[in-house]
Amino acid sequence: MPARPVLLYPDPALKAVAAPVQASEVDSVAGELLATMSSYERCVGLAAPQISLPVRVVVVDVSDHPKAETSNGLLVLANPRVVAAEGSEVGREGCLSLPDFTANVRRATRVVVEHLGGTVKCQGFEARAVQHELDHLDGILFLDRVESLVDDVFRRRSYAGSPPDPPGSSGGGGGASSKDSPGRADGLRTAPAGGPVPESRVAPFD
Ligand SMILES: [Zn+2]
Repeated sequence: MPARPVLLYPDPALKAVAAPVQASEVDSVAGELLATMSSYERCVGLAAPQISLPVRVVVVDVSDHPKAETSNGLLVLANPRVVAAEGSEVGREGCLSLPDFTANVRRATRVVVEHLGGTVKCQGFEARAVQHELDHLDGILFLDRVESLVDDVFRRRSYAGSPPDPPGSSGGGGGASSKDSPGRADGLRTAPAGGPVPESRVAPFD
């Protein structure tokens, strides 16, 4: 199965709330997600809306990632919802839909997720990845989670020589409201390349 294109911010489909998936569709959607995820090195998760499938399915697999101290292996989560969450920690995240940026995002450190296939408990890096992917099902991107667009968003070093337009500079096309806009581009200042956290430690979620 070939990889599908990954939608890039500010595609309005990334801001939409995905619909519940039918059980009969899960295998097909998961197959598309896994084929796409495997085409990106070190990618640890992907959500169906990112590949233009507007249903509530994500895949996560942190088992090969050095930051993952625990792992449930490959997780296919259909119609997932967090039913318990504990702890709080800021960590760096990346996103295939925002390839030019990383950001410091606060997440719960332990979550319990119910999904079509049962219940799963995740902690640490895996819990972070799961929360990041579940956000995509509700049209939430990591930029919507940062405490400060000025201090917590970083331009990837590999793009430092040809900076892209910062998030929000496209004029808000696509119908995003001010409520869910990631903020005004003219207020965005990113840290110097290679900022406080070396890029090698950045979690390349999806
Ligand atoms: Zn993402």
